[in-house]
Amino acid sequence: DVKIISAHVAPLPDGAGAIVVMRDVTEVRRLDEVRRDFVANASHELRTPLTAIRGFAETLRDGALDEPRIAKRFVSNIVENAIRLQRIVDDLLELSRSESPDARFELEPIDPLAIASKVLSSLEQKASDKGVQLGIEATHDAVPVSGDERALDQVLLNLVDNGIKYTPSGGRVVVRFRKDADTARVEVVDSGPGIAASHLSRIFERFYRVDQGRSREQGGTGLGLAIVKHLTQRMGGEVSVESRLGHGTTFSVRLARAELGRDASAHDDDSA
Ligand code: ADP
Repeated sequence: DVKIISAHVAPLPDGAGAIVVMRDVTEVRRLDEVRRDFVANASHELRTPLTAIRGFAETLRDGALDEPRIAKRFVSNIVENAIRLQRIVDDLLELSRSESPDARFELEPIDPLAIASKVLSSLEQKASDKGVQLGIEATHDAVPVSGDERALDQVLLNLVDNGIKYTPSGGRVVVRFRKDADTARVEVVDSGPGIAASHLSRIFERFYRVDQGRSREQGGTGLGLAIVKHLTQRMGGEVSVESRLGHGTTFSVRLARAELGRDASAHDDDSA
């Protein structure tokens, strides 16, 4: 284990000696590196669609406009890349909000079943277009949890959306509930291809993808699971994943159970 030490030497006022202050800056260096990697990755992700948009637009300007069939295709490509750019920027903003200490997270009793139902409805069309079946199970275990409605909505949206994206036609994505004494879990289970153990520990990292091409093709930004992780942590919970290649994937979001009634009134003085 190599430590990086910063040393500061201060002479004593009587000139008789000096004090040396040593500080372990390994962690500071590491965070700095993570930040630099992130900026480099984000720039690269933004540049790809931007370069495409510029290329198509310039080709149109330089003559392709006179070829209606080609022009139409190029304009479609521009729109497609602009949508991709927008997705990346939206996810970057969402990620930054989820990490910002200033962002307010109201922890209050919320109903995970209502949120899950809403998320499933909003993705029904996408799932049916892909030939993936959506379901909801074990709803008797859906007890109120302590969380933030918007955050849990986003978490489940990202997880179910991933399930649909990576599960081939004919497969299933199911949201199910589990409870124990102090915590409750919302699980998103899919019958997709699964994730190899070697990738499993890294998929929550920003911009990490098992298969770059596959993710792109599905409109992925590589940020969805990083957002899930941060939002869940902000709610005082944790997210975990279990998967075996060829046997589907289960994401599990664990949150504290809410004592209904008590927490509900605690927010009344927050009306200003
Ligand atoms: P992306 O936008 O690429 O989907 P995410 O952060 O949401 O980014 O996920 C990171 C990577 O984890 C994905 O690129 C994919 O390789 C893998 N992954 C996420 N969810 C699933 C899933 N349900 N089944 C298989 N692989 C998944």
